[in-house]
Order: sequence, then structure tokens, then C-alpha cells
Amino acid sequence: MSITEENPSGEELRERYKIERNKRLRNDGPEQYLEPTGRFAHLLEDPYTKIEDREPRKDEVTVAIIGGGFAGLCAGARLKEAGIKDVTIIEGGGDVGGVWYWNRYPGAMCDTAAMVYLPLLEETNNFPSAKYVYGHEIHAHAQRIAETFDLYEGALFSTTVQEARWDETINKWIVKTDRGDELKAQFLVMGTGPMHNPKLPGISGIEDFNGHMFHTARWDYDYTGGDRTGSPMDRLSDKRVGIIGTGATAVQCIPHLAKTSGDLYVFQRTPSSIDVRNNRSLTDEDFNSLQTGWQKEWLDNFATLQSGGFADKDLVKDGWTDIAIRIRDRIITKIQDNPGAELDDVWMEAFSESDDEKMNEIRSRVNSIVTDGTVAESLKPWYRQLCKRPCFHDEYLQAYNNPKTHLIDTDGRGVERIDETGIWANGEHYELDCIVLASGFEVHIVHSAHYETYGKEAESLNEHWDGGMKSLHGINIHGFPNLFILGLAQGGSLVANVTHNFSETSTAIAAMISNCLETGCETLEPTAEAETNWVERLQIQDRGFLANCTPGYYNNEGHETTDRDLFSTARFPDGSVAFFNYLTNWVNSGEYEGISFN
Ligand code: NDP
Repeated sequence: MSITEENPSGEELRERYKIERNKRLRNDGPEQYLEPTGRFAHLLEDPYTKIEDREPRKDEVTVAIIGGGFAGLCAGARLKEAGIKDVTIIEGGGDVGGVWYWNRYPGAMCDTAAMVYLPLLEETNNFPSAKYVYGHEIHAHAQRIAETFDLYEGALFSTTVQEARWDETINKWIVKTDRGDELKAQFLVMGTGPMHNPKLPGISGIEDFNGHMFHTARWDYDYTGGDRTGSPMDRLSDKRVGIIGTGATAVQCIPHLAKTSGDLYVFQRTPSSIDVRNNRSLTDEDFNSLQTGWQKEWLDNFATLQSGGFADKDLVKDGWTDIAIRIRDRIITKIQDNPGAELDDVWMEAFSESDDEKMNEIRSRVNSIVTDGTVAESLKPWYRQLCKRPCFHDEYLQAYNNPKTHLIDTDGRGVERIDETGIWANGEHYELDCIVLASGFEVHIVHSAHYETYGKEAESLNEHWDGGMKSLHGINIHGFPNLFILGLAQGGSLVANVTHNFSETSTAIAAMISNCLETGCETLEPTAEAETNWVERLQIQDRGFLANCTPGYYNNEGHETTDRDLFSTARFPDGSVAFFNYLTNWVNSGEYEGISFN
């Protein structure tokens, strides 16, 4: 079979993937992107909330939480449940919600089923309206969590932390902010999330465009008309709109732009993989059969299947579990057929075959939906599904059947330059009224923040992690007493459902703080030995198949990943579910092994 035929496999497919990857490799790799400065500095500002003057706070709190997204909210909720009332959230945005506060682009929606993606559904007595819900409903859920657990009380919004410093003379954290606050906190929880700031494509001339330009993370409804609840963008009907980027964000907003723009020009460097979404409204029937404790059952079921584990049924039934189940079932068959086979080899074969099958289905789906043959060819992704963020959508590919939607496929080269009147690509100029930048975000899997944290003896977290992240459970750090991190690295590492990591970790954090307060201790900190043992226990993975993937933020844009980075993202050897169970048992034992309470 030739590689241009519809369903190539094995070596031919690998060769095609390599060719497509090589087209996209750039010397500047991750450096190609720009921070928003100059004309774009406003991208770091908040267009949604007017900043009111207020007096700086210099008082004392029991717990300060940096970040009011789902990480900070989960921690706040668990602390309140544990009876700790004095909790203050500090958040740069004007409200809770994190990415769901900032991202209001049309079509924004969760890609993981709402029944598992939205945390604390039972605790807030809420049911999602559909299998996947829109951003405004997700933001409303964040607000509901804050209201249910009184987390608005004392919260400092529109406030950016500038420094967190441990003061050994009083055993408290001093948190300084851009509003002049100097809050003293006995305990400090950091839930700063993996995606902080929008980034810009490093395209020559980007500053020169005289038309309108904005990033998806700050959608300008004043210009487009419409709103995030889905009202049509009625001011675009006579506009020539260009969008740069075809990642997960663009996939969600392009169908809306296609419906309303005079003409829409989509500048594509690499197509996303678009699997079936099959969204549907949820009804009473979906909820009536649920018993108390259902969300934990669903969360464990989803995470088990994601970790290659066994479960009687697939409760979530979506694109994430579909590929996981295919791999798992192939492993079973292969082991039955060849009982002596090496598990690593079996896993690799099963993964490879399942992925080839899935990607061939995804490419065939493009043919079955997109009517123009050339456009359909350009929309086919030639890489493994997990090389880039998998997308699921039932209107994206259809948008290219709209005669006003023009796909400008740059065959991996990207946009050449921007000038006063539009975009140059493939040697042609496209005159535009408006350019939408769907160019993504700075991504940090390991905790990172735009402020410095100083622990004992004024050592900074950056210095402490000079050789890579070191932690106990991804949560506590030796030398940084009473500090807790909510993240994925060196802990649950469950990428397909990020909020699940937060809810599990939050339970452990609340238990440690409660234990400290109940026993009258002032500080808690992991011992150096416990931290070292934990890190040694983790499995440092090489980049595996990602090393040969088409470039993107999953693989450092195709460039080498340092040992430091590999070490930092080391994971629990038995997977996410095993980690969550381990952490629960660690808490329930009441021993908190490895933590010293003083
Ligand atoms: P991405 O970083 O995934 O995408 C950026 C896009 O910009 C890519 O298509 C990239 O192309 C393109 N690009 C960059 N430079 C150029 C250039 N010079 N010319 C042409 N194209 C260019 O950002 P997103 O905002 O789409 O998504 C970021 C992440 O946010 C997702 O991976 C996901 O984790 C999260 N997200 C989650 C959602 C959800 O859960 N519902 C929804 C949306 C986002 P290339 O691929 O070639 O690099």
C-alpha cells in the first residue's frame, strides 16, 4: 500500500509521520513564541472586571490560597469542610474560575465529560446540563463552589501575588501583592494552574497590523458582537476575519466564527485530530439512578480506564476512554496469545496498533464530512493521537463546508508575516479586518509562578529545584514549611482530567492542616529523607513516543527535553489511581509518614 492511500499502516504510516514532523521542526522551537508586551501588554490585563481601590491588607489568616481556579476552590472547599473557617483566596482575576474566568471565546467548553471534569458536584448539589458543558456553565459552577463553601468571604480579587516568604521568627508566610497587601498566613496553598498567560506567535510584523487583533483568551465581544452564552456575533457579518492556530481553542471557536463572519480565513500550520464528540443534554433519567457517592465512582472509573486498568463498565464512554479500552483489550488478547511476552513490548504493540486504528478512523471521518477533497486532505492529522491535545467536535469539520470558510493550509510552515492590512501565507497576501490569535498559552506542568517563593534561610523555590522538582507527593517541599502545591507533577499526573488531581490532593492538604491545628503544632514539613525517598520511588520516563512526535507543547516543540524536566515530571509507577489510593491510605493512617509536625 502506498503512503498516499487512505489507510496506511506500519512502516508507511511511520514514514509519513516522520515527513510531517520534519516539515514542522524549527530551530527556535519553544522560543518562537512571544510574551505579550508593547501593543499586546493589555492581554495580561482583565477586561471583565473594573478594579476598585481598596486598603491593603496586613492582617493574619490561617490559610491563604493563591489562585481561585478549580485547584484553589477544591482546596478551599476541603478546608472549610474540615472546619477551618479562616481561609483567604488571592486571585489575579476579578472572580473565581481560573481559566474559565479568562477564556470566554465562543464555543468554549470542557473536553472531558462534565460529570467528571466539574469537581464537587455532589457537594454543591449540582448536575451538569449536558455531557460537555459550555464555559459560562463551568464558570457558574466555580462560583457555586465559592458560594457553597463561603470562599468569597475575605477573598482578594484583582490581586497579583509578587512574593511569598517564610518568616522563621513568627513561623508564618508573608504574602506580598501588587495591591500593597502583606498578608501573614500560617499555611500557604498554591493552586496556580498549568496555563498562566496567553502567548503570541512570533510572526514578523505582528505589531504592524492596523486592523483589529485579539487573543482568544481575551475575546473582544465589543468588536464581534454576541456573547459567551452563544448569542451570534452580529458585528462580523461584513468583516474579513483571520484566525491563526488550529489547536483545541480554535477548534471550538471556528464553527462560531464560520457562522457569523463575512469571510473566515483559517491559517493552519498543523491540523488537530478531531474525534467524535456526541454531546447530548443530560436529563433527570441520567441522575435519578445515581446513588450518593456517585461522583467518586465515576472519577475512579474514568481514571482507572485512563491508567490502563480494569473496570466492569465504562461510565463516561468518551474519546478518552475509547482509546484506553482499545489498548487494554489488545494487551489482554496478546498476553493470552503469548503468555511469556514482555509486558513493555506488549504494551507498546497494543498502543501502536490501537493508535493507528484510531487515527485512520479520524482521517476517514474527515473524508466523510468535508466535501472538498483538497480541503479534506489538508485537515488530516499525520501523527499519533496523543502527540497533540486530542480534540472532539461535531461541528468543526463541518464548518469547512461553508463557502465563506477558507482553509489556508501552510503545510507546516505557518504564517510568513503580518503587515498593516493582513496576513502573508504561502506567498499570498490575505487582506483582513480582524485577526484572532488562537496561539495558546505558556504551559507549566511543574508548579511555576510569576512570583518567587522563599522558604527557610531565604532559599528560593527556583534554587531549591535547580536540579529539578523535589517534593513529597508533589505537594510538600522540604525547607518550605506549611506550604502546599496543587498540581499534577510527582503526584497523580492524570492529564485527561486535571481537576481530579486537585480534588484528591485537596483532601490530603486539608487533613494535614487540620491535624496540625488540632495537635497545636506550628509547622509541618516533609523530612529531607522522605522527600528523597519519594522522588526515588517515582518512575522517570523517557519521552517515549513523544520524542518522535510532530512539534507542540507536549514535546517542547520537538526539541530535546532536559534531564531536569524529565525528572520533574516523574510519575507514580503504578499510575494515577494507585497514587490516589496510596494518598488516601496515607491520610487515613493518621501517621502522615514523612511529615514532621512541630
Ligand atoms: P495550542 O498551543 O494548542 O495551539 C496553538 C496553535 O497556534 C497551534 O495550532 C499552532 O500550530 C498555531 N500556531 C502557532 N504559531 C503559528 C504560526 N506562526 N502560524 C500558524 N499557526 C501557528 O493552544 P490552544 O489555545 O488551542 O490550546 C492550549 C491548551 O488549552 C490545549 O492543549 C488544552 O490543554 C487547553 N484547552 C482545553 C480546552 C478544554 O478542555 N475544553 C479547550 C481549549 C484549550 P502548531 O500545532 O503547528 O504548533
